[in-house]
Amino acid sequence: MKYDRVYNFSAGPATMPVEVLEEIRDEMLNYKGSGMCVMEMSHRSKVFQQIIDEAEADLRTLMGIPDNYKVLFIQGGATLEFAMIPMNLCKNGVFDYIVTGNWSKKAATEAKKYGKVNVIASSEDKNYSYIPDCSDLPIDDDADYVYICENETIHGTTYPVLPNTKGKILVSDQSSMFLSKPCNVSDYGLIYGGVQKNVGPAGLAIVIIREDLIREDIDPKIPVYLRFDTHANNGSMYNTPNCWAIYVCGKVFKYLLKNGGLEAMAKRNEDKAKVMYDFLDSSKMFKGTVVKKDRSLMNIPFVTGDKDKDAAVVAATKAAGFDNLKGHKSVGGLRASIYNAMPKEGVEALVEFLKKYEAENA
Ligand SMILES: *Cc1c(COP(=O)(O)O)cnc(C)c1O
Repeated sequence: MKYDRVYNFSAGPATMPVEVLEEIRDEMLNYKGSGMCVMEMSHRSKVFQQIIDEAEADLRTLMGIPDNYKVLFIQGGATLEFAMIPMNLCKNGVFDYIVTGNWSKKAATEAKKYGKVNVIASSEDKNYSYIPDCSDLPIDDDADYVYICENETIHGTTYPVLPNTKGKILVSDQSSMFLSKPCNVSDYGLIYGGVQKNVGPAGLAIVIIREDLIREDIDPKIPVYLRFDTHANNGSMYNTPNCWAIYVCGKVFKYLLKNGGLEAMAKRNEDKAKVMYDFLDSSKMFKGTVVKKDRSLMNIPFVTGDKDKDAAVVAATKAAGFDNLKGHKSVGGLRASIYNAMPKEGVEALVEFLKKYEAENA
């Protein structure tokens, strides 16, 4: 492959479009005649203001974000949002969580510090290998919101349909599926994602929040930096933002727009995932760990059923130029993360390799 790169199946930080990396390389020493690199630039400069403004505008175009939603660029990754969400959305102090894996479990645990958490559905009984039926859940009358992790990165599940929240606000962690397909923003009160899975460098979360949910009458002890209104009222620049990550995300937004937007991404991602799932469904050695209807298009865990065999396959893939296929310890086996930037040829090459491995080691 070009530049001696490997096919990188990492769950995050994850593979980036080569075109974007090349553009960044070309602008590294002198960004568009400014005479400096973006990482050397004042965040109060006109040049950087244009970078962040364009990034937001392009994201709004890509997702069709309505005018009554704010876009916030906040440091601290997705994990900080586990706390910021209950802190800022707390009115009655009751939060409903659907727990479908490690990430939603962590979010629920954090929320318990700020109110009463009801786990209204869970798939823990089968190691989070499915999405529970969410059509008629016991939503609390006092719930400030209903929380989901829409794509569980570790377990490889995704919601085939959004839960019926019975009129309550839906809050969604989209970290590992952000911009992988069209999204009807007005179905949600708040959408957020750490960008290092499907968009850019680590250390930045993008929060898309309906304006009326940004309140000033919250606990005054909440640190100023952890208030959504602080970020909303200061154009995401209350302090020095993660300028570099915002710049790179902006590049990726332009790349996605140029390549057909989210409809085109959805089509590509479906095609790519089908290559992998068709193989798993026909293989005698490997099998997927998730029920078919809830399979993620982004993260695909699979196992041989034997730990030593799994480890041998991981080692063989790495030697053949397919990196980061070791599964998360809570599922074991292997996991192929095939985000937007993974080309279909990468998945096809992996499948060819696994077929050959299976034939030789049957
Ligand atoms: C990776 C991930 C997180 C944590 O992201 P950080 O930026 O490391 O805090 C949270 N939720 C999901 C779904 C993830 O995939």
